[in-house]
Amino acid sequence: MKVTLAAGDALLVADVQNDFLPGGSLAVPGGDEIVPVLNRYIGFFHARGLPILATRDWHPPNHCSFLLQGGPWPPHCIAETAGAAFSPVLELPSDTSIVSKATAQEKEAYSGFEGTELNTLLRSSGTRRLFIGGLTAEYCVLSTVKDALRYHYATFVLKDAIRAIHPNSNLGQALEEMKRLGAVPVDFESLAA
Ligand SMILES: [Zn+2]
Repeated sequence: MKVTLAAGDALLVADVQNDFLPGGSLAVPGGDEIVPVLNRYIGFFHARGLPILATRDWHPPNHCSFLLQGGPWPPHCIAETAGAAFSPVLELPSDTSIVSKATAQEKEAYSGFEGTELNTLLRSSGTRRLFIGGLTAEYCVLSTVKDALRYHYATFVLKDAIRAIHPNSNLGQALEEMKRLGAVPVDFESLAA
């Protein structure tokens, strides 16, 4: 199946931040491998004047998801730190809409829609179809895909540009769940020139 991009399409890059990449505090195995692939998508959407959005975990230093606060994760993506910065090799255009999530101490948010202006941004840009890739497949990508479907966006998951924190057990399972819910898996070759 070839997908032809048109007005109403937008690209969402989820959480491609240093702490989720090899060397980071919550590194996703092979997370760096998707960055060049995402750059191809970014170039493709940008060349067509289509909106590009990027979500980021943007936590306070004592966020409830951190181990010391009783959460499941080591500290990661603390706002304004190098670990929270987007990968330096991710080629986000200057007009990318940046959406910060889980910014309050007591609230976790895996979905880019949760407690953010993401839905408003998409509505105001006339987005009807959303293409989602990034990290991690079984948490933030899955949750964002679920919410995108709940908000009635036609939702495509970039299966060549996602990675799971537990790749052996969770990547295939996450993809299956996204498909079951109605998301359409695509890869870069699926996009019609
Ligand atoms: Zn987080």
